[in-house]
Amino acid sequence: MASAPNPLPTPGPDARIDLHAHSTASDGTLTPAELMRAAADAGLDTVAITDHDTTIGWAPAVAALPPGLTLVRGAELSCRWYGTEPSIALHLLAYLFDPDSPELVAELTRIRAAREVRAERIVESLRADGIDVDWSDIQARAAGGTVGRPHIAQALIRAGLVGTTSEAFQPRWLGWRYRAPKDDLDVFHAIRLVREAGGVPVFAHPRATRRGEVVPDSLIVDLAAAGLFGLEADHEDHSPTEQAHVRRLAAELGLVVTGSSDFHGEHKTVRLGAFTTSVPAYERIVAEASGVPVVSSS
Ligand code: AMP
Ligand code: FE
Ligand code: FE
Ligand code: ZN
Repeated sequence: MASAPNPLPTPGPDARIDLHAHSTASDGTLTPAELMRAAADAGLDTVAITDHDTTIGWAPAVAALPPGLTLVRGAELSCRWYGTEPSIALHLLAYLFDPDSPELVAELTRIRAAREVRAERIVESLRADGIDVDWSDIQARAAGGTVGRPHIAQALIRAGLVGTTSEAFQPRWLGWRYRAPKDDLDVFHAIRLVREAGGVPVFAHPRATRRGEVVPDSLIVDLAAAGLFGLEADHEDHSPTEQAHVRRLAAELGLVVTGSSDFHGEHKTVRLGAFTTSVPAYERIVAEASGVPVVSSS
């Protein structure tokens, strides 16, 4: 599988390409099959499934692929830059990598387990304050998908304590008061593993200051030298200034620029295709990949 070719269903010049979307395999609310249907209904030509730290959504997405839709199989890896104190969390999109690459599989398994430990700790700290949320219920509802804070946010909504997922991310809840660190993947190690698996690494929402601390441009220079292939510029968590900054940096470093919705179903308000990636950028990513091919049903 490692050297699978990528014969392209060539997208037309006006193709709508959204390279970042989540399903119930992580913290989205549509199943992988429903996500494929929704992508077609949204008028997309190409969609990427990029669940957090897992590839379990790939097979059901492929099986449900509607005619005319092209699927890019990917994941969003929970990474960290340890070169500063405190370390900074960041997300790395990985496209078209071999899902059986042993070292990557081992790291994803470790990270998913760490997420469970961390989520249970957050639940314990909520319970210690008399808030009635139940870990086994939250875990059961995640149904084998990667557990994340949005699952705890849903429990807070069910308990009537907050109205929306974004409210649950306010400092008085999961944003600060009830937080616990999670073990992530060193970002340089992640880039190496993705590349070794024939995948293409793209830095997700690199400048999203509204989410928290972001890494300096000097780190992005180093990541590019280490094999980073692209930067996600157009994303709802980037202001227009931040988008422009990312585009400028990508041009300076010769990195591909992507745009994507980061769709999460009902967990966020953003719609599929709200931001898109240009055809040339998409083609560069596909040409660079050698792990698995893109898939289209006809
Ligand atoms: P975790 O992966 O457990 O650290 O949780 C982070 C996830 O929570 C992100 O991938 C988003 O899906 C979601 N998220 C982060 N910040 C917010 C926010 N302010 N409002 C809604 N969802 C958020
Ligand atoms: Fe998410
Ligand atoms: Fe992300
Ligand atoms: Zn995402």
